Amino acid sequence: MGPSTKIIVVGGGIGGMTAAVAMAQAGMAVTLLEAAPQFGEIGAGVTLSPNAMKALDHIGICEDVARAGIEPTRQRIQHWQDGRILRPVERADQRAKYGAPYVTIHRADLHAELMKAAQAAGVILLQDAAVTDSEGNSVILHDGRRLEADVIVGADGVKSVIRSRFETTPPHFTGHVAWRALVPAEGDMIPLAEYPGIHIGAGRMITRYPVRGGTLLNLVFFARQDGWTDEGWTIPADVSDLTATYEGWCEEVQAMIAAAGRGRLFKWAINARGPLTDWVVEDRVTLLGDAAHAMTPFLGHGAACALEDAVVLSRALEASDTVAQGLRRYVAARHERTSFIQAESNANADRMQGQDSDTFGLATLRDEESLGLFTYDCRTVAI
Ligand SMILES: Cc1cc2nc3c(=O)[nH]c(=O)nc-3n(C[C@H](O)[C@H](O)[C@H](O)COP(=O)(O)OP(=O)(O)OC[C@H]3O[C@@H](n4cnc5c(N)ncnc54)[C@H](O)[C@@H]3O)c2cc1C
Repeated sequence: MGPSTKIIVVGGGIGGMTAAVAMAQAGMAVTLLEAAPQFGEIGAGVTLSPNAMKALDHIGICEDVARAGIEPTRQRIQHWQDGRILRPVERADQRAKYGAPYVTIHRADLHAELMKAAQAAGVILLQDAAVTDSEGNSVILHDGRRLEADVIVGADGVKSVIRSRFETTPPHFTGHVAWRALVPAEGDMIPLAEYPGIHIGAGRMITRYPVRGGTLLNLVFFARQDGWTDEGWTIPADVSDLTATYEGWCEEVQAMIAAAGRGRLFKWAINARGPLTDWVVEDRVTLLGDAAHAMTPFLGHGAACALEDAVVLSRALEASDTVAQGLRRYVAARHERTSFIQAESNANADRMQGQDSDTFGLATLRDEESLGLFTYDCRTVAI
């Protein structure tokens, strides 16, 4: 596939942006359509494991992203009630072990690096360009414009419009809600930022890690909860919600709740998708990232999968004589892994938020590292 191959990527999130850069660098003519009035990301953090960083290496920005983020040397899993360490997690060895760093980063900082790469690669970037429909080889924008391409890539997230070409079933509520806050890493938050980790208990879990040079601490509180299904990422919440949900949890947790209450707190319902049997229609439309396989966040691998998809899709198209062949090779290379991660992510919620959190340190661990997810290399995997 070369410069005559026209690609439309719908959605300028982490996955769509990376796919657009990779394909433009490979010589394809790429237009990226983003619904929001401006390209950007929300004020929250994201963890990029070594397999995710290898995707960023493929497009040449791994070290820039590592510098814009933080490489933790250690993490810990802690008991909900007394805060004791159930399991320490070593992270100082990630580059040596996997050939790429493990990074925590503010999403806006990651997005800024992707944006620079997209501009340098010559991607045509259209914002305020919400796609409302798609048929044949075209997409229709909210203002009535119709754009055509040889390949249409739906990277438009969990509520994907492009996915409706595959199925009409909407995303489902997973039974989990989350609250997020970005708080200054000062006072009693300093030791929590210096030694990040998660507190686990039955049906609940809190994760924390520093971003932006260690000046901010990213907090996400998870709970199983019915009756709240609004999935917007910017719905304000009241801190009393957290106080009630985490009553009886340890002092560190109460301090994080107090810090979250001093700033801006948001709540959303976690929705996901079941696996699709195929990701190609009419030999020219495909999906990636959350549009293809939105999952629960309990392995921290949704963005990682979107990044891997992006690179493998680009490589598969580049290596093929026809679009149809390229898309087939992409799906063959990616479907099994993402379905496995979706299933393990759900199972991890049961393991980590189960009734046995007292004995968690002794239980058999199946986390993202022990499952072998970090060894995957999207730059070289067979396509
Ligand atoms: C609490 C929580 C924590 C997480 N933490 C991690 C983590 O630490 N590590 C990790 O790997 N993953 C994590 N994830 C998952 C990760 O955030 C997602 O999997 C990832 O953002 C998916 O990227 P994407 O590009 O596929 O979709 P999105 O990030 O949803 O991007 C979709 C883009 O498409 C645009 N769009 C939508 N509809 C249209 C349309 N009709 N027309 C044009 N544009 C459109 C949107 O505006 C958006 O910019 C977490 C998720 C949650 C909920």
